[in-house]
Amino acid sequence: MDALETTATEAPPLVAIVGRPNVGKSTLFNRLTGSRRAIVGDEPGITRDRIYGTAEWQGRVFAVVDTGGMVPDDEATIPSAIFQQARAAIDEAALLLFVVDVRQGPTPLDEELASRLRETGKRIFVVANKAESAKLDADALEFTRWGFDEVIPVSAEHGQGFGDMLEAIADRVEMAETASAPEREINVAIVGRPNVGKSSLVNKLVGAERVIVSPIAGTTRDAVDTEIESDGHRYRLIDTAGIRRKGKTELMAEKLSVVMARRHLERADVAIVLVDAVEGPTGSDATIAGYADAAGCSTIIAVNKWDLVPDKETGTPAAFERRLREVMKFLDYAPVVFISALTGQRVTRLLEIAARANEARRSRVPTSELNQFFERHLAQPRATLPGNQQLKVRYITQARIAPPTFVLFTNAKKAKLHFSYQRYVENRLRESYDFFATPIRVVGRGKER
Ligand code: GDP
Repeated sequence: MDALETTATEAPPLVAIVGRPNVGKSTLFNRLTGSRRAIVGDEPGITRDRIYGTAEWQGRVFAVVDTGGMVPDDEATIPSAIFQQARAAIDEAALLLFVVDVRQGPTPLDEELASRLRETGKRIFVVANKAESAKLDADALEFTRWGFDEVIPVSAEHGQGFGDMLEAIADRVEMAETASAPEREINVAIVGRPNVGKSSLVNKLVGAERVIVSPIAGTTRDAVDTEIESDGHRYRLIDTAGIRRKGKTELMAEKLSVVMARRHLERADVAIVLVDAVEGPTGSDATIAGYADAAGCSTIIAVNKWDLVPDKETGTPAAFERRLREVMKFLDYAPVVFISALTGQRVTRLLEIAARANEARRSRVPTSELNQFFERHLAQPRATLPGNQQLKVRYITQARIAPPTFVLFTNAKKAKLHFSYQRYVENRLRESYDFFATPIRVVGRGKER
């Protein structure tokens, strides 16, 4: 069935962000939802719509609505206006996040909003934003006198306190299973040296697939993304304008491609690293691919201009792949696809692979399975470590997805795992589960803490 047409059986609960101007509502919203923004009705001349998104916490989701920006600026300081505009969202919401600025303390406008919000009878958390120090954390206590359900100091800008806040939300709100949430778009970064065919690939994709929204302003000031749909999945091609930008000289182009790659990879779920089939894999290709791995993106290596390679001369794809693996040893998990951005050969296939990689990247191994994995592979101390070190692993847990990150609790004094052991665990994980095209992180936790 087409994933986009599936109707959710279990609608995610709604959390509404309210508060006076400049307390950081949209920053909070952006950090909570990442790029999982559903409706952005912000075009000039159109009635400003409410902005909805979805947030995810430990495989469960809730919907978020940002009530900021709903009030014309000149009325944004009138409590009744803020309240009236947010009313519909408040009525629907299972929980209100009442955002305040901890550095300013409670202002008269906050006080008045507080009493109006209290009258709704809704569950309310005070989110004390801009708490970027221990002192400011403590200052947040001042807001407890309103008597709302929770006061949570956070920094929407830097992310501190988000774990606590999400946990508190999860405690009070019945979240929906991720499976029933609308699929979010897959952020794809197309990276590579100058002239490998990045722009050509973008043009081909945009020409061949259905463009949903084009272009969408990105998070950085001059980045412009394009969203396309293919086979029921939505892909956001990161900074399509930037991809088309060329350096004036060869050296500048080369440098620009590296700078752009790093920037694009930061926002990506999946990286498509383009390599030129005629020039073969080069050191710069390896450098750029290395950034993809470091950024924790799922990575696909696409050998472009395959149409220019006469089979007889250069040999088979297997030979090319061997050379490629030689220069990119660290990327042994990345699949290699031979494409032509010019003829369109396997270009749509590339997207299917990206979707599969994105799914693998977000997978979570159930605790029961991980316990079995532990018994099978980790319970016995391994004597093969250097220096006669006897490492005893006490247990393993998957701390994160995207990329999947596993923490091993050990008896060692140092938290840091030996490289060879890290590799051993990673290999066993790869054999046991499908982490297609995706880097895995394995980190240790020692005794002293
Ligand atoms: P970018 O700098 O990575 O964006 O590279 P461009 O997309 O501008 O491509 C550089 C040159 O390679 C252009 O002349 C393209 O027409 C050509 N090119 C790109 N992809 C292919 C391909 O698959 N086959 C062939 N034969 N030429 C290609």
